[in-house]
Amino acid sequence: MKHYPRMLTPNTPRFNPVELAKVTESIVCRNDSRKYTAFYVAGVYRGISTGYAVGCCLRCFFCWSGWSRDFPELYGRFYTPRDVFKRLCEAAKEYRIRKARISGCEPTLCRGHLLKLLELVESSEFNIFILETNGILFGADKSYVRDISKFTKVYVRVSLKAGNPRAFSHRTGALPDFFELPFKAIEYLIDYGVRFHVAAMTDPRIMPAGERVELLNRLRDIDPKLAKYLEEELCDPYDATIVRMSIFGIDPVKFYKYSLP
Ligand code: SF4
Repeated sequence: MKHYPRMLTPNTPRFNPVELAKVTESIVCRNDSRKYTAFYVAGVYRGISTGYAVGCCLRCFFCWSGWSRDFPELYGRFYTPRDVFKRLCEAAKEYRIRKARISGCEPTLCRGHLLKLLELVESSEFNIFILETNGILFGADKSYVRDISKFTKVYVRVSLKAGNPRAFSHRTGALPDFFELPFKAIEYLIDYGVRFHVAAMTDPRIMPAGERVELLNRLRDIDPKLAKYLEEELCDPYDATIVRMSIFGIDPVKFYKYSLP
């Protein structure tokens, strides 16, 4: 990869997201450790202990993650799976919650790190680990989904970005051929009996109605229930989202049309 992709513009050269995952891993993974910037309890899921990790293999223009997504070299410290587990436990204990996740990144990067962390979660007091993924690496390697299926506490949330290859490439920066990978991930999750649901960025300001129909049909082809229970996402005005959107060539003032607090 000649230039490491950072913030997306419509003219950014399109990239292979599996290759970008590898290059990003060379920055954010070291042996079994991964870079994180913070540990805290987030209000979503009615309170969840969260490790905010560094690095992703897509470059969605609506992404809300911090600048560590674009400049992983500049952010975070390396934590072993045991360090991360300890931090997650400490945060959870303070708020008396039993849920955990990794956020702010693509959690499936640094496979060895994630699997070791899930082993620790499996024999702990946590009762669920919510694995929020863009589905690229699961779709690229079925054996990764097989490995995940061994953990009873994992619940996967696959977040789709588009309803056709052209829109996928436009919004994420990835080459259009890789559009299918998250759908493959869904098929593999079904094959291995992993608990999951599907979410998608169907905000009508981003995804035209016709494309939403394409997406729903694609999901129905796999299983009608996936479309029925689809979680539809809205694009919230996080600070990083506003800047990324602006760099992408969309005026956030016109996009949001209301004053932010
Ligand atoms: S929205 Fe998710 S998949 Fe897209 S760049 Fe941000 S962290 Fe990665």
